[in-house]
Amino acid sequence: MNKPPLPVFFHPKQLPHNPRYEWTFGRKIEHPETRSRVDRILKAISGSPAFSLRLPYKMPLNRLTDLHHKDLVSVLKTARKLPEGKTYYPSVFPRRDQVSSDPDSLPRAGYYCFDSGTPLTVHSWDAAYWSAAAAWSAAKCVTSGESKAAYALSRPPGHHAQRDLFGGYCYFNNAGMAARHFRHRGRVAIVDIDFHHGNGTQAIFYPDPKVFFASIHGDPRKFYPYFSGYDGETGRGEGRGTNLNVPLPAGTDGKKYLSVLRRKVLPAVRKFRPVALVISAGFDTYRHDPVGGFDLETRDFVEIAREFADLDLPTVIVQEGGYATKWLGVNAAAFLRAFRDRHFD
Ligand SMILES: [Zn+2]
Repeated sequence: MNKPPLPVFFHPKQLPHNPRYEWTFGRKIEHPETRSRVDRILKAISGSPAFSLRLPYKMPLNRLTDLHHKDLVSVLKTARKLPEGKTYYPSVFPRRDQVSSDPDSLPRAGYYCFDSGTPLTVHSWDAAYWSAAAAWSAAKCVTSGESKAAYALSRPPGHHAQRDLFGGYCYFNNAGMAARHFRHRGRVAIVDIDFHHGNGTQAIFYPDPKVFFASIHGDPRKFYPYFSGYDGETGRGEGRGTNLNVPLPAGTDGKKYLSVLRRKVLPAVRKFRPVALVISAGFDTYRHDPVGGFDLETRDFVEIAREFADLDLPTVIVQEGGYATKWLGVNAAAFLRAFRDRHFD
């Protein structure tokens, strides 16, 4: 019997947001988070019967404000006043005690931002909204019973965005949007395989006993986001024990990575007994990635995808990072195809 295609949610309005450069420890570099990342992924999956491309559903704004502070939504909307072609960098990031905030004031946008790599453009709102809507729509598609799994081609990425902070190229937490939708039905597991720690997702669900968050990532003593991702971070209050960080050293290869996934992360997910799974799928663990520091190969993404498929849970795969643009389409397609082939068995 023919297997059904994997639904892929994406909106063309995610494309025009175009941060041209970023400041990293005082150096100006070309921005790695470009629209050609999406072009590569679409090219690699289009025309294949394994995938069906869909537009996301129009998402009510209260879905966003269920997860995010209303002022974060407002500041992104304020950025719609920027002139075309302008890339606006918040430059002052105040500590939050004894300062006043105003989401309508761009000079004070740094109140809602935590780094200098995540600029605002006139198109940021549309891109971030549809990126989040793609993840939410993928979750809706799964809970409606239409498909056992779905992929959100979310761009900009989301896992660094917190409830009231954007940063790390992320504006809204796309994986969080999907998890939040599943959460109404029971316990949810989010596994983050991006090279960088998913600090935003961790922060949002840290006190939540119904959402298990696990992340395998580059050691934060050396790699972004530096301030979180340590193995002592296990959750707070009722959420204690529902957060698992596995930092790994630079140069980690597929063998070591898969062993950690099989020995530590997947058993913890099974033990949690979730009703659904969200995968924060970054491919910046690839050996040629300019931003990551691991040594994974395309065939490792196939193995990782099969491990997730064997959990046999309703699943949403959310696109996160991956900046070796030339290989991003190949890696994402290899992961998605392997997942679909095993999961839809
Ligand atoms: Zn990343």
